[in-house]
Amino acid sequence: MNVRELTTLEFDQQHLWHPYTNVTKPGPTFVVKEAEGVYLTLDDGTRVIDAMSSWWCMMHGHRHPQITQAMHDQIDRMPHVMFGGLTHDPAVDLGRKLLEITPKALSRVFYCDSGSVAVEVAMKMAVQYQHALGHSGRSEFATIRSGYHGDTWKAMSVCDPDTGMHHLFQGALSVQHFVDRPPITIDQPWSEDAALNGLAELQQVLEAGHNKIAALILEPVVQGTGGMYFYHPDYLNAARRICDELGILLIFDEIATGFGRTGAMFATDLCTVEPDIICLGKGLTGGHISFACTMTNDRVAEGIGGGKPGIFMHGPTYMANPLACATAKAALDVLTGQDWQACVKGLERQMRVELASARDLENVADVRVLGGIGVIEMKHQVSADAAHARAKDMGVFLRPFGKNIYTMPPFVTSPDELSQITAGMLRLAREL
Ligand SMILES: *Cc1c(COP(=O)(O)O)cnc(C)c1O
Repeated sequence: MNVRELTTLEFDQQHLWHPYTNVTKPGPTFVVKEAEGVYLTLDDGTRVIDAMSSWWCMMHGHRHPQITQAMHDQIDRMPHVMFGGLTHDPAVDLGRKLLEITPKALSRVFYCDSGSVAVEVAMKMAVQYQHALGHSGRSEFATIRSGYHGDTWKAMSVCDPDTGMHHLFQGALSVQHFVDRPPITIDQPWSEDAALNGLAELQQVLEAGHNKIAALILEPVVQGTGGMYFYHPDYLNAARRICDELGILLIFDEIATGFGRTGAMFATDLCTVEPDIICLGKGLTGGHISFACTMTNDRVAEGIGGGKPGIFMHGPTYMANPLACATAKAALDVLTGQDWQACVKGLERQMRVELASARDLENVADVRVLGGIGVIEMKHQVSADAAHARAKDMGVFLRPFGKNIYTMPPFVTSPDELSQITAGMLRLAREL
């Protein structure tokens, strides 16, 4: 058949790959015609609430007028220009804004295209820093299990070995150092007992490998794709101390947690220490265009710059893309221009109340809420495909993964819309 005669959906199903999907047997897929605020309009005219914030990035609603205006203004002036030997106001304006809101010591910004690349950049920075200090053997990484850091090779090597399917890529992935995820959750009281709080294992693994380990990389407080697990921030304070003792850098991947999602501007703000390197992405542009960055402190930047070869060995073609920078600056202005804390608190309070009844369901293992994240963890794997149609009936777009039926609603979700989302989640928990 001539491909021109195929409908949108037919062409899609026969020719396009989707994320983590079987290309020859794709599941149900909706055609979206338009997106505005919290709503997606499908080709059959149905409007559904985007309860996923389009994979957690569309925090202020689709097609936010202030953000799209900034995009129009920038696109008419200069959509792109290379960043080697050139600079521009959008990059600088965004940099100023980032320095204002990120943890104090982070003073150097590396712009890149996506979260996974931001993680690659962070890992390269760590290795190059160690190399500059004369520790050329330190090129491995430590991390905690059930983490997720992206889909590129090096990022994948520090994803959870089971859910990241390390066995499938055996031989191609670098072997890294894994410790169990921190056992004490954010809702439990902290225990100083190092065996109970998981720090004994961390200490032991870092000590044993410290001549080979460049950095410890983890998602602070919230592990996202690896299981939607919320652990105690005190773990991070202790991790910082252990890393310092051993000369190991600390990398926080805040790609999912950054920009208010947990109720704090950054999950880092929930603990008392700062990382050496931070990765930001997803919500950076409020879900309007792919963009990310890696920030580091003067110590790491000066270490790399003062060592050999001095230059940092990374530079994407679209580095600091002006359109993306202007978009991100506008999205951050929207974020800080509102009472986002009250907004996220409101989402949290309502989700705690409305999701609580899921605890009574036999197949539910746990219900947890933190900031703008609401999770019903089932005792079994949930089929995302089976969830789609049921959620659509409820006027909601939900895409569970693993055992988790979850939402990360846009910050602009109204109480009524949020009730519709939680009702959809409860239905899935009952029926799937
Ligand atoms: C989504 C995510 C990434 C990867 O970002 P992409 O933009 O999809 O490459 C990395 N780390 C964390 C914690 C994420 O949630």
